[in-house]
Order: sequence, then structure tokens, then C-alpha cells
Amino acid sequence: MDLNGFVPQTRDMFAPYCSRHQSRVLLGYESVIDIEQTPFGPKVLLRCHCGEVVVHDATAEASRLEPAR
Ligand SMILES: [Zn+2]
Repeated sequence: MDLNGFVPQTRDMFAPYCSRHQSRVLLGYESVIDIEQTPFGPKVLLRCHCGEVVVHDATAEASRLEPAR
């Protein structure tokens, strides 16, 4: 999968909400299974550690992923 040029502001981690964990989970690029281009920006499908497929909406969550500086 070619991730070049894909939303550079998300860095290398995702924090999608997993319904099975009932919380956000931290996933890296190795968990990405698909990327859908939507009118609102790219939508990333990831495989959670528990096997659940979770969706990361880059446009909605990028601003909340900032680590403490
Ligand atoms: Zn999970």
C-alpha cells in the first residue's frame, strides 16, 4: 500500500475509537488495512489489536492527537 503523500499531519500513529475496547486505541501504520478517499478527506480503516475493524477519520481527529510538547 502506498502511503506517500497521505495526510502528513497525522504523523505515524492513529487513535481511532474501538467499539469493542469502548475506548480509543493507539495504532500504527502496520494496522492500516484500507484508505478511502471521501469528500471530507481520507478515511482510514484499521485493524485493532482485538480484531475489530475501526475507522480513523483523519480530518476530525488529527487536531486531538497532538502529544504534549
Ligand atoms: Zn479493539
